[in-house]
Amino acid sequence: MDTQQLLDDLNVAQQQAVSAESQYLLVLAGAGSGKTRVLVHRIAWLMAEKRLNPYHILAVTFTNKAAREMRGRIETVCQRSVQGMWVGTFHSISHRFLRMHWQDAQLPESFQILDSDDQLRLIKRIIRSLELAEDRWPPRQAQWFINNHKDAGKRAAQVAQEVNPSNRHERTWSRVYTAYEEACERAGSVDFAELILRTYEVLGRNKELLAHYQQRFQHVLVDEFQDTNDIQYAWLKRLAGHESGLTLVGDDDQSIYGWRGAKIENIQQFQRDYPAGDIIRLEQNYRSTETILNAANAVIAHNTGRLGKKLWTEDNAGESIQLFAGYNEVDEARFVAERVSACVREGQGYRDCAVLYRSNAQSRVLEEAFIRQGIPYRIYGGLRFFDRAEIKNVLAYLRLVFNPNDDAAFERVISVPSRGIGERTLTHLRDMSRERAISLWQSAVDTVSEQLLPARALNAVDGFVQLIRGFDEARENLVLSELAELVMQRSGLVAHYQKEKGEKAQARLENLKELRSAAREFESAETQDHPSSVLAAFLDHAALESGELQAGEQDDCVQMMTLHSAKGLEFSTVFMTGMEEGLFPHQMSMEDSNRLEEERRLAYVGMTRAMKQLFITYAEMRRLYGNEKRCFLSRFVREIPTELITEVRLNASVSRPVHSSFRRKEQASSVSSD
Ligand code: ATP
Ligand code: MG
Repeated sequence: MDTQQLLDDLNVAQQQAVSAESQYLLVLAGAGSGKTRVLVHRIAWLMAEKRLNPYHILAVTFTNKAAREMRGRIETVCQRSVQGMWVGTFHSISHRFLRMHWQDAQLPESFQILDSDDQLRLIKRIIRSLELAEDRWPPRQAQWFINNHKDAGKRAAQVAQEVNPSNRHERTWSRVYTAYEEACERAGSVDFAELILRTYEVLGRNKELLAHYQQRFQHVLVDEFQDTNDIQYAWLKRLAGHESGLTLVGDDDQSIYGWRGAKIENIQQFQRDYPAGDIIRLEQNYRSTETILNAANAVIAHNTGRLGKKLWTEDNAGESIQLFAGYNEVDEARFVAERVSACVREGQGYRDCAVLYRSNAQSRVLEEAFIRQGIPYRIYGGLRFFDRAEIKNVLAYLRLVFNPNDDAAFERVISVPSRGIGERTLTHLRDMSRERAISLWQSAVDTVSEQLLPARALNAVDGFVQLIRGFDEARENLVLSELAELVMQRSGLVAHYQKEKGEKAQARLENLKELRSAAREFESAETQDHPSSVLAAFLDHAALESGELQAGEQDDCVQMMTLHSAKGLEFSTVFMTGMEEGLFPHQMSMEDSNRLEEERRLAYVGMTRAMKQLFITYAEMRRLYGNEKRCFLSRFVREIPTELITEVRLNASVSRPVHSSFRRKEQASSVSSD
């Protein structure tokens, strides 16, 4: 495509952004104004007009899904393959870098990624080994402490130096961080924050490598810049150096990851760091009807300290926003399901409907309503396939086969299914691993050879060691799916789940089946791309992929996700559910004005996902996490001018509780007054 064509379907401000000659460019603009579109077209423009080889371009987006979409869109716009271009998230790009440069990064070639569950388990173990009481020293807090410091670029040693010696809390967490860092080093494990931090450090240490990448990436582009944290911003600056071009696009009103260390201030920081940079604002919204846009603008106007933008649209007013008050959460879910069905009857696809919620736990009731009405749906993020316990168990066996020193994997499966290895034996192995500074696996091996336990326990440990060794030997002659099958059978996992009763156990067995097909698909698709073994690649894939590749991404189904995961996406019809004080804004943010503003930005993100129709629902009574509460309409809905909203009801049976076998008991006690 030539340059003119590239610019044709853009407005003037967008054209300026796409073809800006400035080395540094920041596009600061509201939702749906075409930021992502500008980014894609700018890449195409760099290739067409500036003759930049795809190899010289690095594009960073927020999710793997967005990265895949971006690559597809670039290829469509450029009408050519963009092989050699790196498009990914901060995490996936750092991961790729570390795989290529594991030696420079001082990692074992087989280093494993710890996802946040694995990380938490490891932290628990450390807290125990430091003889701290878990109830006083909650592992989750330690996890937060560690990740926050890593996101700020701080290693355990630095934190240890900086803690206030009279603050017992800080001192203790700092000790946990140190022990955690040692354990990760020993096992060759890398958590999510580590991927980025370590890449950053390697580039800082190794000038040759840095020069290579700075020369390679002549232009670096970042979408959703408002949600970068300290270490990510430092990473970007280091990689871009002084020669490369930098294009950042973002919206301060959509910064929703402050709780994970994201800094809106990076936008201002950019202006200080690159005073010669251009800033371009886009003001025309192409996504939503005027009604939806005005409503979103009215809500976000309640925040203070915004960089300030006005968004307008040429679109017509469209339908008014529909507000539904459910009697309870079941009633609310039923309304959503009925409206989805109505949309489909009117000719929309299921995939054009998105159901958004503040917290994952809300999805269950909605899912039940969909299942009851035979509506196909898909959950993004949250309950991801590779997160399910049975899947993680099989993967942990595979990880152990791949790298016996993976302590997190060892801990996970040593007693799943149970094989006569008790808490005492485990304590022995943990103590030994600490005292000798060796992995749990090595402790098990040495325990057997040195006969350090009574006969029965020794036998059990030996059985486990032999089991894993057997897998390792079998691995030579098996493809991935066969190995997975062997592990499931011989480890006793399949038999273990077969013994369990009920639907859950059934679902687990089905998931195991699904894992076999995933392995089969993987071995046929991925072999050449990965230098190390297919098994390694598969394990990485499982750890990194947040369920976005689960079966059915292409299928026509309702898209369910948290408000956070909806960032950057758009749907014809959007349902914002659970719009209640305490749920959204979340209880924890109601006392703190900064956090409340972040919640409001999240509401703004949610509303601006809608193109044609926005439904807002809430329940007057809600049972969540086992408690039933009376609820009040969220302030964010009350901030929408009333003339933009219509209240709707379900036909005749509005407030009747739905009779279904699994809800009857709760209803008997809570809803009987109806
Ligand atoms: P968000 O802030 O939600 O990430 P965004 O600013 O990245 O939004 P895009 O997703 O790039 O916005 O664009 C929103 C929608 O408007 C898309 O469907 C896009 O194709 C369309 N769009 C953007 N610019 C134009 C244009 N000049 N002409 C027609 N459609 C456009
Ligand atoms: Mg976007």
